[in-house]
Amino acid sequence: HALMQSLLADFTAAGGVLVCRAPVTAALTDEQGHRLTLGGESPCVLCAPEVVNAAGLGALPLASQWVNLPQETLPRGYYGKGHYFTYNGRHPFKRLIYPLPDAAGLGIHLTLDLAGQARFGPDLEWVQQPDYQVAESLRGNFALAIQRWWPGLDPARLAPAYAGVRPKLHGPGEGVADFMLQGPRDHGLEGLVQLFGMESPGLTASLAVAEAVLGLLESG
Ligand SMILES: Cc1cc2nc3c(=O)[nH]c(=O)nc-3n(C[C@H](O)[C@H](O)[C@H](O)COP(=O)(O)OP(=O)(O)OC[C@H]3O[C@@H](n4cnc5c(N)ncnc54)[C@H](O)[C@@H]3O)c2cc1C
Repeated sequence: HALMQSLLADFTAAGGVLVCRAPVTAALTDEQGHRLTLGGESPCVLCAPEVVNAAGLGALPLASQWVNLPQETLPRGYYGKGHYFTYNGRHPFKRLIYPLPDAAGLGIHLTLDLAGQARFGPDLEWVQQPDYQVAESLRGNFALAIQRWWPGLDPARLAPAYAGVRPKLHGPGEGVADFMLQGPRDHGLEGLVQLFGMESPGLTASLAVAEAVLGLLESG
């Protein structure tokens, strides 16, 4: 969307190059710097003095096989799946609606897409591995949650939309964890920053996170 296009334009203007479909399959740090093995259509090995591991759901799996990265510095990760339902019908809303947060997060809230269609979510389901199915059977729970603040909802008009998976640093029943940004002082490897637990509001906070990453790289 527009934010990503704007960030990409700034990045490209500053000399950056975006390469997609090039998964990092292995990483190693030694005296010569950081070495990343890339798969995809043009497999290669990249060497760099500075690397930011911002792989979202893939950040911890990548870090956990990073050669010479002290593994005891890594947090434990969990997958928090969130489902969304769309509403096929008229609704009275012109603005986003956020109920008071519950222990697990913000709760099922209302967003409006650019065409004004209502979309509800996300809920929270702890999963062992990321998957993106949205079961019809969740409709009842969604209806109950939404009817707390919109009694006029017609449950039959709720339709499964999509799902996302959050890389969480706290598990079921544990207190909510903050983002974890690890720099050289945390793991001892110069020029490496790792971003863990970048769930909501990571997008909203992205510019502030970028400044913090820069600070970690500069402080060494
Ligand atoms: C259901 C849900 C609702 C959310 N709602 C909000 C919200 O309302 N507001 C908000 O601010 N944030 C929200 N977020 C959080 C937001 O999406 C994240 O904080 C943000 O996307 C994190 O950005 P990122 O660049 O760190 O990671 P990502 O956006 O996850 O990007 C990581 C990228 O790395 C790639 N990757 C993974 N492994 C590898 C590898 N080995 N090699 C190469 N590439 C790899 C992935 O394919 C991906 O493209 C929500 C998230 C979810 C799941």
